[in-house]
Amino acid sequence: MNTVFMNEMSWVDYQARIERDAPPVLLPVGALEQHGPHLPLGTDGLLSTAVAADAARRVGGLVAPGLSYGYKSQPKCGGGQHFCGTTSVDAATLIGSVRDAVREFERHGVKRLVIVNGHYENQWFLTEGIDLGLRDLGAGAALEVVRLEYWDFLTEATLAAVFPDGFPGFALEHAAVIETSLMLHYHPNLVRVDLIPDDGPADFPPYDAYPSRRHWVPLSGVLSSARGSDAAKGRLIAEEVAQRLATAIEARFP
Ligand code: ZN
Ligand code: MN
Repeated sequence: MNTVFMNEMSWVDYQARIERDAPPVLLPVGALEQHGPHLPLGTDGLLSTAVAADAARRVGGLVAPGLSYGYKSQPKCGGGQHFCGTTSVDAATLIGSVRDAVREFERHGVKRLVIVNGHYENQWFLTEGIDLGLRDLGAGAALEVVRLEYWDFLTEATLAAVFPDGFPGFALEHAAVIETSLMLHYHPNLVRVDLIPDDGPADFPPYDAYPSRRHWVPLSGVLSSARGSDAAKGRLIAEEVAQRLATAIEARFP
């Protein structure tokens, strides 16, 4: 039995691993959010889980089941809340889930928790959940937490190779080349290449408005074009992220 996935292990095997190896536990976080007509609603969670599993295999880590519902989709980085299928939680809900996870993993004896975020909008609420969880545990707790966005592990050289015409930035990379290429690498059967739209890049003003302006967002939900996506780019991105993430985990938790 060689799985890295905690939810495929018995509690007995899990406890033995924690006690024997003190493995880092990776907790992916995603969202249920429209990703254009060509990618599934669960893309952010599928990708954060896949990247976490790749890194876990390299460092002898375990992957906890992901938190699958994210903070509310914002027009400028996820298209916004008006799309059917986008299903989001209030900040307090996400903060509470992370706070509970921090407390529970510490109770198991986990010493090293790595929260792997795949949904842009989650960032500060994950930070708050970690902060409150560690505050609950008090100063004597042995648990250390690392939080990251997986795309931050891409180097300039790889971005230049993947975007020969210039990188539009991670916010506009919603359902675009990085996510589509990664999905073609990890889950090709879930991608409808024939439905990739021609939209974008979206042109947003330098402010937000409430209620949000639907007309700012392309009807397809894609914020910049996914044309040019392919599995080879996905593999290049996946391997760089997994390798550099593994290196970071080992450096942080020697
Ligand atoms: Zn996404
Ligand atoms: Mn997202």
